[in-house]
Amino acid sequence: VRRVGIVGCGQLAQMMAQEARPLGIEFSFLAEGGESTACVEGLGTIVQATDGDDTESLYRAMGSPEVITAEREQVSVELLRALEKCCPVYPRPDAFEKTQHRLREKNAITAAGLPVAPFLPANNYDEIFTAVEKLGYPAFIKSCENGYDGKNQWRVDSDESLEALRGRVPESEYVVEKGINFSREVSLIGARTADGEMVTYPLAENDHYRGTLLVSTAPAPDVSEALRKTAQDYLSTLMDAWDYVGVLAMECFVSDDGLLVNELAPRVHNSGHWTLAGAKTSQFANHVRAILGMPLGDTDSERPAVMINMLGVDKKPALANEGVWLYGKGLRPGRKMGHVILLDASQRALAERTQAMLEALYGESRRPA
Ligand code: ATP
Ligand code: MG
Ligand code: MG
Repeated sequence: VRRVGIVGCGQLAQMMAQEARPLGIEFSFLAEGGESTACVEGLGTIVQATDGDDTESLYRAMGSPEVITAEREQVSVELLRALEKCCPVYPRPDAFEKTQHRLREKNAITAAGLPVAPFLPANNYDEIFTAVEKLGYPAFIKSCENGYDGKNQWRVDSDESLEALRGRVPESEYVVEKGINFSREVSLIGARTADGEMVTYPLAENDHYRGTLLVSTAPAPDVSEALRKTAQDYLSTLMDAWDYVGVLAMECFVSDDGLLVNELAPRVHNSGHWTLAGAKTSQFANHVRAILGMPLGDTDSERPAVMINMLGVDKKPALANEGVWLYGKGLRPGRKMGHVILLDASQRALAERTQAMLEALYGESRRPA
């Protein structure tokens, strides 16, 4: 049998294993820093890493997998580099190093020739202040590290809101970004093998609520062929430039200045969960295929799909006939507990059913508490 090792034990690791086990692939999971392993119980060997473990014995405890991957961005690059002495690690540790630091990430995207929102680096409040003065309002102040789901970032739209941050932003590395007046947010997910074979999924349109993804619609409705092509060119440029292996997700703003890259995720992505029911091959199966050097599966979708995140709710809603995925995590406010996928031949019917589903999950406001 072929064995894949995954660093991380959350829902992304869970879905990779669920999707690839039917291909006869076995999994082991490495838990770092005492993280919860609830999502991956029963899906393979679970190994707890503790400080001072030597990497080779960790690798052996994982059953000596032929390739290792990771399910989150904020994984220790040092650990990945050490594991690389035992077997290939895909995506490459370099890809994690670039994407887990926003300034390095923006510089890498720019170096590949792709456009991003105007930005300036800053290391303390005074530099943030100067950067906002140059870029204008609204502006986004994002910590370079440990930002996800809109955490560790602030939007300022006036002198008052900027002043209110004085004394509240710790000395750290930041990027200050010009606020983009986007008409919508889209993401493109692709997979690439070490041989350079590449596939991309239909573009998804993403709606966030308070910085967290709430709804993805794929294919994104009413997208011009030119926009789709641009997004594909961006992603394949990045993947080739980085000699990337595995699934890469690219989040973009559609703006008056064209398509701008917001950020990248070197892993399977929440805006690709719809592929579990809506595409011939899911992003999870294609990630595993890509890192194992297997031929990539068909990414076409037969019917339009909508994925709705279950944020801080874990009751299986009625109406969800195509499927509800529950990750089996402990309930916490705002936490990603699962998701629902709706499929429908008609985009219009799908939009209506999405509203009904949001109401079933969150009540009249149709928004998480
Ligand atoms: P994720 O959970 O996707 O990793 P994150 O915490 O890394 O999110 P971003 O994707 O950078 O954060 O920002 C979260 C959301 O905030 C974006 O999807 C977008 O809606 C909004 N946003 C971020 N930067 C900008 C910008 N420059 N202009 C306008 N809106 C922005
Ligand atoms: Mg992010
Ligand atoms: Mg984002």
